[in-house]
Amino acid sequence: MKTPKILVSACLLGCPVRYDGQSKPVHHTLLQRWQANGWLVPFCPEQAGGLPTPRLAAEIQSDGRVMTGCERDVTTAFVRGAEQALTLCQQQQIQYAILKESSPSCGSSNIYNGQFSGQKIPGEGITTRLLRQHHIQVFSEQNLDELFALLS
Ligand code: SF4
Repeated sequence: MKTPKILVSACLLGCPVRYDGQSKPVHHTLLQRWQANGWLVPFCPEQAGGLPTPRLAAEIQSDGRVMTGCERDVTTAFVRGAEQALTLCQQQQIQYAILKESSPSCGSSNIYNGQFSGQKIPGEGITTRLLRQHHIQVFSEQNLDELFALLS
């Protein structure tokens, strides 16, 4: 079997790249095994898109733009990061991704509702959407078992 490569949100692997300068490490045996196998490719679309860390929290609005809480439009940086994620997948023939749920870049089932109220709605992040448009299968840290079943 050809060795699978999996794009992973860098924050899930303990890299302090989140908007608040923190990480969101996931201590799951599957992720640890895949990392030991050398299958994981860490990536942060928002950093790759040129945003600093720490940075202002941003949410996707109903019109599709990505705005910070003080109404700065950061859509261009989010799109740039998504395009870089896609380029990396294409260069390394990556067909799978594990991306951080609820993030405006990486969410795959839900995102925050754009009101900075802490409420989530069904939806996907900018990077997730672009990867899926190019037939890359995106999972979150909450459904690693589904990816395991696919790879088995
Ligand atoms: S953009 Fe994705 S990888 Fe970067 S901090 Fe946010 S959730 Fe993590």
